[in-house]
Amino acid sequence: MGNYEKWKTLMDAFSGQKPVENMPSFPEVPIVQMVQTLCSIEEQVWGMYAFEREPLEGKISLGQKKQYIKAANECGRSWAKKVMKEYETAQPETIAKKMGIAVKKTARPIGGEIVLFAQFVRPNEITIFTDCIHKANLLEKECDCKILQEDILEKILLSHELFHAVEEKHQKEIYTHTEKIELWKKPFSNRSKIVCLSEIAAMAFAAEIMRLQVSPYMLDILLTYSYDKNAAYGLYEEICSLQAQFHDEAIL
Ligand SMILES: [Zn+2]
Repeated sequence: MGNYEKWKTLMDAFSGQKPVENMPSFPEVPIVQMVQTLCSIEEQVWGMYAFEREPLEGKISLGQKKQYIKAANECGRSWAKKVMKEYETAQPETIAKKMGIAVKKTARPIGGEIVLFAQFVRPNEITIFTDCIHKANLLEKECDCKILQEDILEKILLSHELFHAVEEKHQKEIYTHTEKIELWKKPFSNRSKIVCLSEIAAMAFAAEIMRLQVSPYMLDILLTYSYDKNAAYGLYEEICSLQAQFHDEAIL
């Protein structure tokens, strides 16, 4: 187990959590090397990274997690195909328009101290925060990572949020909403959604729409880097540690 155990919910920028105070300082990694490594992380490993942020994580076995991760990725991809077919386009802006979603742009969230890239507000509004896109664009010049380019990044963020709109529209049938775990049975059954499955599926949905060869999950770390390098080094250490664990398990 790595250092990250102590602060694993430190920052989940896609969900707009506040950074934890008194964060330890993590070893620096050159950005080019970081990008190179992140490009090679498999989607199962990003799934484990998502589960590190899941409130119900302790109630789910490793074997179950692996099955959930696979199913959530498949859910995201298959809904992307359905949506592109239904609306006859792969352009996220056009999909949003056809779904009746208003897409707003603003520099940063009100309050300002949380790091947030984009958000879906029920029932039909998506906001893209342009401040993070500008910062990412500057970073792209340092590391030549295409998904940080302004127009591509904006479409990825929009696609991710569009998945949440699709979930809202199809909540009775979509896997990320129908899959639940039993927390306790007596005296009443209490079944709960697994929140991180929505995030895993949203990333797979965005990757499919944008035909990406890499996981957009890497943006969680790279966009954080634009705001707080040390926090990004921490997240990087976490994903590398999960990657190493994943390969050890594969050998055993
Ligand atoms: Zn999301």
